[in-house]
Amino acid sequence: MLALRLYGKEDLRLEDAPEPLLKDSNAILKVKATTICATDVKAYLTGSRTKIPITLGHEFAGDIVEAKGAIRDYVGKRVVVNPNIFDGKCEYCLSGEHVLCPNRYAIGIDVDGSFAEYVEIPAQAFYVGGVLEIPKGLSYEEASVIEPLAACLRGQLKLNIRPGDVVAIIGAGPIGLMHYMLAKTFGASKIILSEIDDRRIETAKSLGVEYVVNPLKEDIEKAILELTNGHGVDAVIVAVGSPHAQRDALRIIRKGGRINFFAGLPSSSEEVPINTNIIHYKQVTVLGTSMQTPIEFRKTLELVASGLVDVKPLITHRYSLRDGLEAFSKSLKAEGLKIVLAP
Ligand SMILES: [Zn+2]
Repeated sequence: MLALRLYGKEDLRLEDAPEPLLKDSNAILKVKATTICATDVKAYLTGSRTKIPITLGHEFAGDIVEAKGAIRDYVGKRVVVNPNIFDGKCEYCLSGEHVLCPNRYAIGIDVDGSFAEYVEIPAQAFYVGGVLEIPKGLSYEEASVIEPLAACLRGQLKLNIRPGDVVAIIGAGPIGLMHYMLAKTFGASKIILSEIDDRRIETAKSLGVEYVVNPLKEDIEKAILELTNGHGVDAVIVAVGSPHAQRDALRIIRKGGRINFFAGLPSSSEEVPINTNIIHYKQVTVLGTSMQTPIEFRKTLELVASGLVDVKPLITHRYSLRDGLEAFSKSLKAEGLKIVLAP
């Protein structure tokens, strides 16, 4: 079968790979739609993966075509899969915080992923509620972006976004815009996006974003204080992996506000000098989130299926898997929002 495999730093190959084999401990999914994530791009740029070569791709939806034993009833079903596989029995899993599971591993990160015609789904994914049937009316490509959206949902639940909140989102890439859509659904009264790329600012405006600040052209603190009657914002979501953005978050947060360092930083710049007195005297809560638990994944699917969040505008490009390298180069240039590969 055709697969897009990473061999090392900037060495991605479209090749003929063996199809995954059916065992008692897995199911086989025929990929119908899979989207490229910044994590895939990061893997490409660094070449760092526990397994090399590896088929990338962890945002996907498709049909279960083969399964045995307890999960055989899934054959023929359209499903979306949480790529994170949890053991379901450690202290963290038992307390509902699966994302902290010490035995977690992920499809497309630790084992072969979805940039292929078929992908192996461990039976364990079914047992911990990570394989969900796609409701009627929802397309495979809409379902394939449930994974990143669910990570955003977790981020906002942990940040406790409430009706009436004034929220700033730093970074208007696909993740920043997903946060925008969710904050709107949660009832935020004002949502301000900070972005330095003119193309992304235009895209954000075309999606209905009213307030955009460009920190390259204006002082972000001054601009946000003006938009918030001098108070600062109730919550900040840092959706770009930049130390500068993390420092900006502390400048624009109001007293008693909440900040989520949602985006991870490149390993070369993870030590960030920040004024911790701001946290102390403004009495700010700073937290971080990543990934999503099975229940957050399910709730996100329901949000999209019910029409409360429309992810269609986020899908800007479509390629066949055969043109996967071209799609990837588009993603490297940060053109468009979500790019779908359909085998
Ligand atoms: Zn666990």
